[in-house]
Amino acid sequence: MTDTLAPALSAVPSIGVEQRRVLRTAIPGPRSEALQARKRAAVSAGVSTGLPVYIEKAAGGVLVDVDGNQLIDFGAGIAVTSVGNSAPQVVEAVQRQVADFTHTCFMVTPYEEYVQVCEELAELTPGTHEKRSALFNSGAEAVENAIKVARHATGRDAVVAFDHAYHGRTNLTMALTAKNMPYKDGFGPFAGEVYRAPMAYPYRWAGGADACADEAFAAFTAMVHAQVGEERTAAVILEPIQGEGGFVVPAPGFVAKVADWCREHGIVFIADEIQTGFCRTGDWFASDHEGVVPDLVTTAKGIAGGLPLAAVTGRAELMDSVHAGGLGGTYGGNPVACAAALGSIATMKEHDLAGRARAIEGLFRPRLEALADKHEQIGDIRGRGAMLAIELVTDRASKTPDAKLTAAINAACHREGLVTLTCGTFGNVFRFLPPLVADEALLTEGLDILEAAFAAHA
Ligand SMILES: *Cc1c(COP(=O)(O)O)cnc(C)c1O
Repeated sequence: MTDTLAPALSAVPSIGVEQRRVLRTAIPGPRSEALQARKRAAVSAGVSTGLPVYIEKAAGGVLVDVDGNQLIDFGAGIAVTSVGNSAPQVVEAVQRQVADFTHTCFMVTPYEEYVQVCEELAELTPGTHEKRSALFNSGAEAVENAIKVARHATGRDAVVAFDHAYHGRTNLTMALTAKNMPYKDGFGPFAGEVYRAPMAYPYRWAGGADACADEAFAAFTAMVHAQVGEERTAAVILEPIQGEGGFVVPAPGFVAKVADWCREHGIVFIADEIQTGFCRTGDWFASDHEGVVPDLVTTAKGIAGGLPLAAVTGRAELMDSVHAGGLGGTYGGNPVACAAALGSIATMKEHDLAGRARAIEGLFRPRLEALADKHEQIGDIRGRGAMLAIELVTDRASKTPDAKLTAAINAACHREGLVTLTCGTFGNVFRFLPPLVADEALLTEGLDILEAAFAAHA
C-alpha cells in the first residue's frame, strides 16, 4: 500500500475490521435479500433503504454485511460516522457510561457529561463570545428549538429559509425544507410563518456565477422587505453548504452578507451545521470558512460518532432569554450519547480530522476533475473538504439534470460494493461523505469503482 499523502491519510486505528473491500456474493446477497423480505412484512413502506444490504459489523470506512461482504463506505451513514464506525474512543466511552448509568433525565437529576459537551460546543463553534447550549436527540429537534429560541428572544414570528434547503422532517422543519418529494408530499398542512428566498446557487444562477452572490442577496432582502417585513422576522436559517438539496456551496460572500444584514435588522442568524459540522468541510464548522459567526448553530450528525445527539449553541443572551423549563425533553443529552460525543470530539482533535478532511479533498478533486474531462455529463464539481459532489446533466450547454444517469451509476457502484449516496432537488447529484478516518488505499479503490461505473454508463 503506497500512501502518497502519508501521513495525512494513513490509517487511524480502528477495531476489528480489515480496511479493504471483499465481495463474496452478489450485492445484495442471499441473507440480505431474506432480511429485506422480512423488512417488507414488518417495517413501514415509508421507511425505504437505499442499498438493502444488512450490516452486521463496521469499523473505520468499511461495512460488513450479513453475507460476509465488505463494502467501502462513501456515505458515513449520511455524514454521521466521521470518526469511523465504532471508533475506539467512542466505544470505550460508551461502554464505560452504559455500565455506570443509562438515563436520569438531565431536567430531573443532571450529570457532568452533558455540561462537558456544552463546554466543548462553546469552545469549538465559531466566535469567542459567551455561549450556551441545549442538547436534543435529532437534527430536526435542534432546528425546531433554534427557532423556538429565536422567536422567544425577538418576540417575532417569521422565519426565512432558502431554496434547496433541508432542515428535517418534523412539521416545522418540513415547512423549512424546500423539496416536496419525498419529504413533504401529502404531509401538510405545514407550520406557518415560513418564507423562502432564492439560494445563491452559482451553477444554476440565471445571471451567471459571478453575479450570483450580489443578485441572490438582493433578491433575498427584497423578498423579506416586501413579503415579510424585517421587523417581523425572527430568524433566517441557512446551511453554509447545503446538504440534501445538492451540496450547493453558496456563492462566495453570500453567507456573510446575509449574516451581516440579519445583525443590522435584529434578526437571529441560524447556521444549520448539522451536515457540515465537526470537521466535515476541513474545519470545525463550515461557517469558519466564510468568516461568519452565527447567532445560533445547530449540530447533530457528526457530533457523536453514530449515537443520537443534537445541539443548539448560541449567544448567551439569546439562549438564556428562555424561561426555565422552556427547553428540554426526556432524552435530550442522554448520558451515553454525551459520552460518545466526548469520545468523538477527542478523536477529531487527536487525529486532526479537519486536516484529514482537507487531505481527502486533495485526493478526490483531481480524480473528479479527470472524470469530468472524460464525461460531458459531469456539469459541476463542488463542495469542501470531505463534503464533495458532482452534478450530472445530459449535456453542459443545457444543464438539464440527469437523474436517470445518476441512479444508474449509483446502482453500479452499489453492485461493486461501494456505498454511495445521491442528493439534490433534481436527484442528479452524487455526494461523497467518507468517514474522515478512511485510509488512502480504501478511498482510492472507491474512486476506481466510481470511474469504472462512469465508463460503463455515461
Ligand atoms: C440531516 C439534517 C437535518 C435533520 O437531522 P435529523 O437528525 O435527520 O433530524 C437538518 N439539517 C440538515 C442540514 C441536515 O443535513
